[in-house]
Amino acid sequence: MRDMSAFEMDFSEERRHRQDRGLWRELAVYEPEQGMEVVLEGKRLVNFSSNDYFGMTQHPEVIKAAQEAIATYGVGAGASRFVTGNHAYYDMLEAMLAEHYHTEAACVFGSGYMASIGVIPALVGKGDLVVSDKLAHACLLDGIKLSGAKHMRFHHNDMGSLNRILLRNHEFYDKCLIVTETVFSMDGDLAPLSDIGKLARKYDAAVMADNAHGFGLVPPSDAVDVHMGTLSKALGGYGGYVCGSEALVAHLHQKARSLVYTTALPPSVVAGNAQAIDCIVKDKALVENALKHAKAFTGALALPEAESLIVPVVIGGAEGAVNASEKLKDKGFLVSAIRPPTVPEGKARLRVTFSSLHTKEQVEALAKAVKEVM
Ligand SMILES: *Cc1c(COP(=O)(O)O)cnc(C)c1O
Repeated sequence: MRDMSAFEMDFSEERRHRQDRGLWRELAVYEPEQGMEVVLEGKRLVNFSSNDYFGMTQHPEVIKAAQEAIATYGVGAGASRFVTGNHAYYDMLEAMLAEHYHTEAACVFGSGYMASIGVIPALVGKGDLVVSDKLAHACLLDGIKLSGAKHMRFHHNDMGSLNRILLRNHEFYDKCLIVTETVFSMDGDLAPLSDIGKLARKYDAAVMADNAHGFGLVPPSDAVDVHMGTLSKALGGYGGYVCGSEALVAHLHQKARSLVYTTALPPSVVAGNAQAIDCIVKDKALVENALKHAKAFTGALALPEAESLIVPVVIGGAEGAVNASEKLKDKGFLVSAIRPPTVPEGKARLRVTFSSLHTKEQVEALAKAVKEVM
């Protein structure tokens, strides 16, 4: 056996360091119950930490579509999309995504993370510039890093800051790509996409927006050239996607390594994703109800009115956030504490997410409990 002692010494040092600062992560097992209830370590909790915004992980029509696909195609795709893994459900799902975003084409990836690390290096490289919002998701940063392009960051949603960076730098690079999120995953606020689009036109830059938390909520913006997103949150399944021009998607087929060198998604997953889009488009009440819950919560706590299904309750220190989350657990609510490095130092928070599957009573009870633990 190889001697791991040198590695493990590093591990234990890292562990002490993280535990001291309240940053140590551990996995727990969650058992699903009715609606948004879960059982964790034998205790029944109402889940306010899930990204299953419209109940699509358990929608009967989505389950049925996935089961039928398994009955016909089996459980796995068996190969990459460019070998023999590209089943018919992909065509259906990509057509639905392109229609939703009003784009010529779409390309489905293994996950949102894989879409990001595939598309950015396919678009830019050495000699190009990527300017990203300071709060952009880790998978966007990883994609930028992999691309080898020069990376600069603008202050969150600050168009003056973005303008200054583009003004001073754009002429020194071949291509410029602006990267942002539509709904920010840890703050729940929205990007000013049409203003970003104006700056992009001024400096001849392209815009990529990660819509991981906005599907069904944020209407697709013309200002965006590259729409990226996940099938794993609002759509309740798994996978990621990029929507844009025919030329962009054909280019991704050639160049996106995280598309080419990985196995296709299981047919049942893709069939479920397609059915979930259909359910969300057909039933407008799903989105309305979820947003109503988020607004009721911010109203009850006198927070700025929710713009999305993500509401941050900023606590400050990592330990304080973890304590508040633990106290909420004692009261029967699962609300995750988000700590650095996911959010900036001193901005640790409770991150509350709302779903159409929550009940009005559950939301009211949560607001009361949060007041008590603050
Ligand atoms: C969750 C998330 C992703 C990654 O999507 P997955 O399909 O889970 O890999 C990308 N961007 C943002 C903003 C996210 O919140």
